[in-house]
Amino acid sequence: MPLVGFGIWKVPREKTAQSVYDAIKMGYRHIDGAYDYTNSKEAGEGVQRAIADGLVRREDLFVTSKLWNNYHKKQHALEMAQHEVDTWGIGYLDLYLIHFPVSLAYIAPSELRWPCFWSDPEQKQVTAIDPTPVSETWAALESLVRTDANPSGILRSIGVANFSSQLLHDLLSYAAVKPAVLQVEHHPYLVQAGLIRAAQAAGVAVTAYSSFGPQSFVELGNATARDTQPLFSHQVVVDIAQRHGRTPAQVLLRWATQRDVIVIPKSNNAQRLAENLDSFSFDLAAEELEAISGLDKGLRFNNPAALGSLHIFD
Ligand code: NAP
Repeated sequence: MPLVGFGIWKVPREKTAQSVYDAIKMGYRHIDGAYDYTNSKEAGEGVQRAIADGLVRREDLFVTSKLWNNYHKKQHALEMAQHEVDTWGIGYLDLYLIHFPVSLAYIAPSELRWPCFWSDPEQKQVTAIDPTPVSETWAALESLVRTDANPSGILRSIGVANFSSQLLHDLLSYAAVKPAVLQVEHHPYLVQAGLIRAAQAAGVAVTAYSSFGPQSFVELGNATARDTQPLFSHQVVVDIAQRHGRTPAQVLLRWATQRDVIVIPKSNNAQRLAENLDSFSFDLAAEELEAISGLDKGLRFNNPAALGSLHIFD
């Protein structure tokens, strides 16, 4: 699994096919998508064009997508995984994650295509929790993984996102197919050192999302993000970047990858995409890694509890 991928949350749908194509041309081999990002079809078109043009073969790429919260019941998980594979149109997914450890009431895609956390198109009514054991969802996904006994499986591996260490340990206690990846918010303001240690010690690879901390959430109007000092201008990060002749973004990414944490930065800008990909040809000193980790303040930006009722991380 390539250490640096291209995350496509908030890549506008009309630009996604070209962005994914350009990213592959630039050298990206790992794309991180999700049903919830609403651009899987276009991302798949970008991948298909890159393959048709001979830039890559399908097997050179690592493509991730995710199961949204309204579809945790067995039948829905099976249907939505198949739907996502069909939508990308590239034969199979390399990794399929349970997007959040919360099961919300089912909403048929024909009723509301991309419900996110809401039950109405105006995004006013938060969808109620409709509990499903993770074990039910996991068993459904396991049945889709390609193995010798199941050669037509449409998923190459499965994993989880936004899980705590408790949930991960519980899942590991019964999983017949081990989670390959845990994807979590991870940046210097939210280091989650214990969670990362627990996952890696159990042989579960960790992927960081929102590596730039508040940056991704400022554009969503998130007040905490707006009021937080950007990591890009934090003196600790800036000094280290200057010492290495790198940008703060590259330092933030290297801080993760040097500790075996995979990164999936998103950018709608070609120059920044290239900068992000070129972020592991230098090494930070141990004390620089520590200094960056020392910025930790347990500050989470991607928290649906902000909507009032969806307490997942508390
Ligand atoms: P991110 O990659 O940390 O940050 C994106 C922001 O940083 C954008 O505003 C982008 O602006 C800017 N940026 C990117 N590269 C830059 C650079 N080199 N210099 C300066 N600014 C730069 O945030 P994210 O999109 O939240 O997270 C990355 C990916 O993780 C997502 O796309 C998604 O695939 C995944 N994710 C998963 C979950 C989950 O629940 N599993 C949640 C959130 C995200 P421009 O676009 O203008 O460059």
